[in-house]
Order: sequence, then C-alpha cells, then structure tokens
Amino acid sequence: MRLGIIFFFIFNSLFAEQEIFQHVKINLDGNNQIKQLYELGIALDHYKKNKDNTIDIILSESEKNILIYHDINFEVIQDDLTSYYLNRSQPSIDRNFLLGSMLGNYTLQEAINQMDTLFMLYPNFVSEKDSIGSSFEGRTIWAFKLSDNPSIDEDEPEVLFTGLTHAREPLSMMNLFYFANWLCENYNSDVNANYLLDNREMWFVPIINPDGYAYNESISPAGGGMHRKNRRTNPSNSSCNEGTQQGVDLNRNYGYGWGANNSGSSGNPCSAVYRGSSAFSEPETEVISNFILSREFNNVLHYHSYSNVLIHSWGDGTLPDEPDLTTFREIGKEMTRYNGYIVGTGTETIGYGVNGDAVDWTYGTAGIISYTPEVGSFSDNFWPSENRVIPICQDQVYSNSVFAMISGSDYIIYDKIVNNRYPAIDDTISISLVVQNRGLKNSNGSVIIDITPLNSLSYSNIDNIVIETLASRSTDTTEILLHISSDIQNGFMGGLIFSLYDSSSFNRVDTISIIFGDPQEIFFDGAENGMIEWSDNDSWGTVFDANEGLSSITDSPVGNYVGDWGSSETQLNTIINFSGIYYPFITFDAKWNIEQSYDFVQFQVSNDGINWIPLSGDYTSVGSGSGVQITGEPIYDGLQETWINETIDLSTYSNATQAWFRFVLKSDGAVEEDGFYFDNFYIHGYSRFMKGDINQDNSINIYDLVMLVDFVLLENSLPDYILPIADINFDNNINSDDIIALIIMLMSSNSY
Ligand SMILES: [Zn+2]
Repeated sequence: MRLGIIFFFIFNSLFAEQEIFQHVKINLDGNNQIKQLYELGIALDHYKKNKDNTIDIILSESEKNILIYHDINFEVIQDDLTSYYLNRSQPSIDRNFLLGSMLGNYTLQEAINQMDTLFMLYPNFVSEKDSIGSSFEGRTIWAFKLSDNPSIDEDEPEVLFTGLTHAREPLSMMNLFYFANWLCENYNSDVNANYLLDNREMWFVPIINPDGYAYNESISPAGGGMHRKNRRTNPSNSSCNEGTQQGVDLNRNYGYGWGANNSGSSGNPCSAVYRGSSAFSEPETEVISNFILSREFNNVLHYHSYSNVLIHSWGDGTLPDEPDLTTFREIGKEMTRYNGYIVGTGTETIGYGVNGDAVDWTYGTAGIISYTPEVGSFSDNFWPSENRVIPICQDQVYSNSVFAMISGSDYIIYDKIVNNRYPAIDDTISISLVVQNRGLKNSNGSVIIDITPLNSLSYSNIDNIVIETLASRSTDTTEILLHISSDIQNGFMGGLIFSLYDSSSFNRVDTISIIFGDPQEIFFDGAENGMIEWSDNDSWGTVFDANEGLSSITDSPVGNYVGDWGSSETQLNTIINFSGIYYPFITFDAKWNIEQSYDFVQFQVSNDGINWIPLSGDYTSVGSGSGVQITGEPIYDGLQETWINETIDLSTYSNATQAWFRFVLKSDGAVEEDGFYFDNFYIHGYSRFMKGDINQDNSINIYDLVMLVDFVLLENSLPDYILPIADINFDNNINSDDIIALIIMLMSSNSY
C-alpha cells in the first residue's frame, strides 16, 4: 500500500508539469484568419479584437504550436498566465463575504461546505444540497434551491442559475454564492430580496464540471489552473489524454445544433472546443439537460467568464424570431443597466460562433429564455486578482435579481408620453401611461395601478387603473390627467406616484414628476464664436458641422481622436452660480462616434473645480469595465450619427453656489474614431418667484404696479430674470396688457 501512495505522489507531480498558457497577440492577415483559427480548433470564446487588426487571445502551448505550424504571426504578451495571475493578485480588503483559498475563489470542497453553511444558517430559505447526478469521474453534481418553504415544491415561478461549465472560470460560480448570500442576508432589509425569497424558486447548480475544477486545484492549488473541459478520457486519441488537453468542452456537447460545423466546435479531441463523440455523450451535459427538463423553469442563466457581455441565442449568429428577439434585448438591457455588459448574440458581442452550447439547447429545445453572462473584463481574465472577486460578484446582483423577478409576472411603466414637458402653472398635463408585463408569466388575475399625488399641489383624474389581464410581454396604455393646484408657484414640483401589482407580483413603485413654470436661461453658447466660452487642455475646437448655425465644438476638429488619450477635456470658463435656482438642467445637441465599450466621452460637474462627477442624461449608456470605461459610470460611446438633443438633470445642484462643467474624452490604445460633437449648450433653472412681485419683496402691491408702469411706459429695460415675473398674462410680452392684468390682480386681492 505504501508503494501505491508513493506512486500516486509521483504521478501527481508528473501531472503538475502542465502546459503553460499565454496571453498572445496575433497579427491578422485579413478577416478570414479568424475563421481559419476557428477551424484549427482554437478556443475563441474570449479573444479581444483590436482596431490595429490584431487580436488578444489566451492560448496553450499546443495551440501556440498550431499557430507556428501554420505560419501565423503572433507576439507573446504574458508568457505564463498561471504565475501571472498568482503574482499580480492583490488581497481583498472587502470582507463582507467569505472568500475561498484559490485567489479568493472556493475550492470544490469549500464550495460544497458553503452549500452546507447556507442551509445551516438559513434553513427557512435554503434547501439542503441535492444530488442531481454524477460527473465522468463520479463526483456529485449538486443543486440547491432558495425559496420560502425550501423543502416543498410550491407553485412559484422557477428560475435556474448554473456555473463552472468551464473549469477555469471560477467567477461563474462565485457570483452565485454571493447572490444566494445577498438574498438571505437582505430578506428583512431589501424589498427585492424579500419578495424573491417569498415568491420565487431560485435553483443553483454552481459547479457543472466538478472534475475539471478539481483538476485545476490539483495542478495549481493556489488558483490559476487553466483546464477548461471535463476530464473524459478520449481513447481514440491517446496523445490528448493528459493534462489540460484531455476532455470534452461541455459547452459544445449539448444536443441543439451539435457538431453543425467545425467553426463553432471541433471534432479534434485535442481542441479546447472538442464537442465529444456525440450529442450529450458527457454525463455532465446529460445531468443538466435532464434536470432542466424535470422542472418548470421559466428562464435559465448559464454563467461563464469573461468578457463583460450577456449573450443570447443563436450560437450561429442568426437572430431569434420575434417576439423573442425583443424579449432577449429588453430583458438583457435591464439586466445590464448597472454593469454595462453588451447584450447580443456571440457574433454581435465578441465575434464568435458556437454550436452544441447550453443556451441554444435551453432556448431551442427546452423552449426556455436563456443567456450566457460572461463576467469580468479581459484584464480580469479567467482568474481575476483576489480584490476583484467581490466587485465582480456585486456587478451581477442586480442582473440576477431582475432575472429572478421576470421569471414570473412583473409590471413596469414601459413608457410615459407627457404632452407638455415645461408646463405653465395653470396647465393640465395629459400623460399617456404605457404599462408592460415584462415578466415571462401572464398576470395573476387583474393588474392594479394605484395612483397617488406626489404632494398636496398635484392631483389626478383617477385613483387607480384596473387592467383585466396582462399577458406576458404585452403592454396596456391609459391616458391620465395630472392637475396642479393653482397655489403652485414657479419652480415647484408636482407629479404622481404609481404602484403596479397583481395578486402575486412584486409591488413596483414608480414616479412621474414635473417642474412647473418657466425655466430661466442661465447660460447659452451656440458655438458660433469659437472656443471663447471654453478652455481645453488638448485639441478641442469648433468645426463647420452644426445642428443650428454654422459650427459646433468637437474633441478633434481634424480627423479622428488619438489612441491612448489619457484624458482630453474642454471646460466651461464660467463658474455657474445656482443660488436661488431650483431644478437646474442642461441641454445640448450632440452626435458622436466613439469606440463602443472601450473609449468614452463624459459630461462632468464639479463643486470645487478639482473633483469631478460624471452626469447621466437621456442618451448616456453605462461603462462596461473594458478598455478605459469604468463599470457603471454614465458615458457616451458607440455611434450616434444624427444630432440628438440631450438633457442633463441637475436637481441636486439646486442653490449650489459654484458649479464647473466639462466634457472629457478618454481612449485606449486600439481603435480611433471621429469623436464627440456638441452644439447649442444651454443651462436653465427655475427661480421661485411670485408672478407680479416685480420689486421682489414677496408681496404684490401698488409698488409693483408703479414699477411695471415705469418699465412699460418709459421703456426702461427689465433685467432678464424679471421678465417672467412681469409677464402677468403669460403671453411672453411685457406690455400694457400686463399692467391691466396686474391691476385686476391687485383689485381682486384687495391688498393695496
Ligand atoms: Zn466559458
């Protein structure tokens, strides 16, 4: 026996001499080369395409040899990724969540312990772990459920989250444990966590590929193991039956479109994307597909890492038919609202096609809405630095809770068309309210929308709307009138609060608010006088390309912006004083062409001229975390070819005494585009005055009349801010009609 143990150790240490994996930059000679790489069986799930016609890619030694054999040009950027991962790692400071011992990720045993711990700590919400089958090497594949009454199969919408299909993608598992902990810890403090635990059955299979993951631990116990596939021995090709080349790619082994071609998967057992000998040849894919078919899941997330994208079918790059395409896009957009991931097919998001993957089977065969989130950026890579583990997990919490929410019925205000954005004080506003059931289940009975006034100044023509029934993914439109008390003054807010629900849905609350009165112009630049109002640290200037007038302002008046522009900005010279101003807002016309997901323009505000805050508007998107974009920050990127009119809300700067503003462009080293243009830059806000209080003493009396007569008859000029106060009859003119109107006001109020 002793001999046996020694043998075991010798084998183990032999196997510890693994292929190294490298970060390699390939110089493409034409677009067809990507296809050539596919067909050579290179795993292209995570390559990064650059504008200089290169791609960054992670390759094993043997894959690199394929490049050499086929005379493909490349350059090695990191020569040993496992040691790179281990050496670069910074410890996590955040300890609000228990981390594991492989660069912060759990080992297989630690993950199993976590399932037991969750069950022990939260027996009212977490089921005992449940075996759903075994892997090739006989390891148990575990599932557990989060719900109230976790031991009972209740009649609640079911949703599934899976992880670690690919053994070197530990964040696909960690974020599920983070989410499960978040739900339990916040049951009493967060309305979403509370609702989801009470009204959903959320299933988790955090480790689909336990053999591959255990193997990674054996070759690199501190983390950084680069094995991807399961541990199937492939007898037909013994040369690949060792190390990281062994096994089948589980995400090419599902039955939908299995082996459709050799670019979306490979028939070569040595390839990292080897599809196996037949569809569902692998116990792991069979276990997962049987599990999915055995339950009533409405939606399934199959987690992977990395690339900061959210991928939906089809793997071959074609688009699903409507209405599913819109469903995928709308739900995906909401899921990525804060993490900025790009939503689309694999071809649209990263430029790769697959066949035999889990999402195509889940959607195409099982008929269930499904996505693959690829979590973490290229720089995070397969094994992020330990201090990135919790932030990456946190980026998925909103996504996961939206996904669990839409597993049932779920009502939102889908659109609101207000007939008058800047209503005067005596206007009544008509609101076209479009309610959507964005969820995947029909309404449980009728849908109620309770309407409550926002404050004592507002009231509606109805208290509630009752929609008899609202099918999954459909909308209903109702016209509502918002009346405003005649007591309201300029610059005050009115509005309505809506609460939307059926007898089992989440009670979602939304608000429509409107500022009443005439906004006052505080600043304007039409970009017709050069850069007189702006100072820049680089090349910003005017150009003859305008929405109105002749010119606009742009970051690079001649040609494209440059790569690696750490920061190029143009700042408004005037420091704006909002004293006495309420609900200030900025509008400008803009258009842009900026590398999507990598470069960006931001519009920023500062209250000290030193620290800057990015501002969001109607047209901003969300930073992706790739390139120079920071996850979650409001930015402008992508292509906006025609002029749009942007509005930036500055409500939080009401009464601020100093505000600086600037546009900033940042770019990474690869793609360079035309950049950002703006024109007709306005700053507005509301002053809270009394109509007729021309001398600003807070009462309306004979002195105001004397001043008004003075202005009108003697043609004295009025300061701009007095114009709306003196325009008693709201006709945008100051004339004798206003004198008459003011006399009527004074007589009726008896206040002189
Ligand atoms: Zn993967």
